[in-house]
Amino acid sequence: LVHAVNVTKAFHGNEVLKGIDMDVRKGEVVCLLGPSGSGKTTFLRCINQLETIDGGRIWVDGDLMGFDDRGGTLHHLTDRQVAAQRRDIGMVFQRFNLFPHMTAIQNVMEAPIQVKGGRKSQVKERALELLGSVGLADKCQAYPAQLSGGQQQRVAIARALAMEPKLMLFDEPTSALDPELVGEVLRVMRDLAKNGMTMIVVTHEMGFAREVADRVVFMDGGVVVEQGPPSEVIDNPQHQRTKTFLSRMR
Ligand code: ATP
Repeated sequence: LVHAVNVTKAFHGNEVLKGIDMDVRKGEVVCLLGPSGSGKTTFLRCINQLETIDGGRIWVDGDLMGFDDRGGTLHHLTDRQVAAQRRDIGMVFQRFNLFPHMTAIQNVMEAPIQVKGGRKSQVKERALELLGSVGLADKCQAYPAQLSGGQQQRVAIARALAMEPKLMLFDEPTSALDPELVGEVLRVMRDLAKNGMTMIVVTHEMGFAREVADRVVFMDGGVVVEQGPPSEVIDNPQHQRTKTFLSRMR
């Protein structure tokens, strides 16, 4: 579903991604691990075109991100076309980024109505279903400020799912949460994975990665250092950089 080839990205001459190759199959859960500053967040943002890449190519479900490659020559897509590509990709951030002046259900209904022009009754039904699936059926009318961080993050997940994405990107979704609230968010993500959602998750939650990831990708200094099933990368890393990182996590 995701095919990234030799992706590079620099900020003011500082090369943050130095040629990332990554493939993610449909239904696969990939956890991205690595020290702070290794480029994990930047890579996720590149997939979603929140950053433009300097080199390389990223395809999502066969679509070349940011370009039209029909007819032999590459053309940059218009902002509108980029927005259309982005619509199929759900993203959940470290901070929940809910609209503060809207209730939980209004947050979940906003994009399908504004962007997809869905019928209100149908969108509402689906929003209720989604809030139910993240365990918040009773919080539909609550405003973000009335919800805990874990609850807000679950609304954010429901909101992303409301657009029926092909792919979900999670950027350290539990790192801003109090420890006792982490579990409820991971549980929702685990259910999503079980239901076949394709997911790329930047996380420091080793337990989650070990249990849920089909594959773990360890990044450091803007390159993929090693990757494989969690039983290999987490429990039996081959590279010194991975070993050092993991020993600090324990
Ligand atoms: P963390 O776990 O801390 O989020 P990360 O692996 O996700 O780390 P990135 O957030 O991708 O790393 O950042 C990689 C590098 O790129 C860092 O040195 C960061 O300072 C730099 N960087 C990221 N975004 C920008 C930006 N918009 N402008 C300038 N530099 C940036």
